[in-house]
Amino acid sequence: MRKHLPFWSLAFVVAIVLQSCQNEAIKPKDKQADMQNAGNGALVSRLQSENLALGNPSNAATNLATPTNYLLDKLQYAVSYNRDAGKSNWVAWHLDPTWLGSTPRQDNFASDATLPTGWYRVTSGSYTGSGFDRGHNCPSADRTFSVADNSATFLMTNMMPQAPVNNQQTWAGLENYQRTLVSQGNELYIVCGSYGSGGTGSNGTRTTIDNGRIVVPNRLWKAIIVIPRGDNDVARVTTNARVIAVNMPNTNSQNTAWGTYRTTVDAIEAATGYDLFSAVPTAIQSVIEARVDNGPTR
Ligand code: MN
Ligand code: MN
Repeated sequence: MRKHLPFWSLAFVVAIVLQSCQNEAIKPKDKQADMQNAGNGALVSRLQSENLALGNPSNAATNLATPTNYLLDKLQYAVSYNRDAGKSNWVAWHLDPTWLGSTPRQDNFASDATLPTGWYRVTSGSYTGSGFDRGHNCPSADRTFSVADNSATFLMTNMMPQAPVNNQQTWAGLENYQRTLVSQGNELYIVCGSYGSGGTGSNGTRTTIDNGRIVVPNRLWKAIIVIPRGDNDVARVTTNARVIAVNMPNTNSQNTAWGTYRTTVDAIEAATGYDLFSAVPTAIQSVIEARVDNGPTR
């Protein structure tokens, strides 16, 4: 029988206690966060999970066995990436004032080095000459707190081949309105994506670009839940929440007033097979997802 625990076991216990004290110091509320420095000394706590707080629409997972629904869970946004389409299925993010700062647009389009080894990585030049814009899912202007945040939006896994008129006018109009809603005291949960094949850009209709490696989507959709700024967001999504859902054609000839493309979340779910906002109780989803928004558009 041993009379004493060896010295290393005591050292081990002390190390564990010290480690947990260190972790405690940077926990906001009850969750582990990343502390992010804006570069000017300002610190903001980030929860990586906030982008998927209202649900993961296709149960995407970081699993090599599901290359067409592969989760890229970034601090700034979450992506269901489709390796075979060379673009995302959907991108989800949270927008509140903590993400908005004065960082200029970085314009540093780049391949996403976090994709698994051996997968084709769309490059900054993959869309060149195609007649389609490198269209952001999560917009540059929604992530201006730090250079790291803004640069993340320029990864090619956040892009879709988007008809320039849609990207620069119709889609951009809704993107601008998102930030207007934040300036009015709200926070937003946003998910958007694209599906189908066949879009019409500046050089005509294409089903793929980049030698067939990137599918040009036929439809571009977005769904937004708007709630007043506060805590415990999921619990505050009631049947009173404003929900804005749109589904637009990926063409250069269109009505550039985004409000004309409003639809229901239910219709987007039917078209894509996803379950949007699945973390919201089903009794509430069934009400808010069946409603077409008729609120202001600017
Ligand atoms: Mn854009
Ligand atoms: Mn749903």
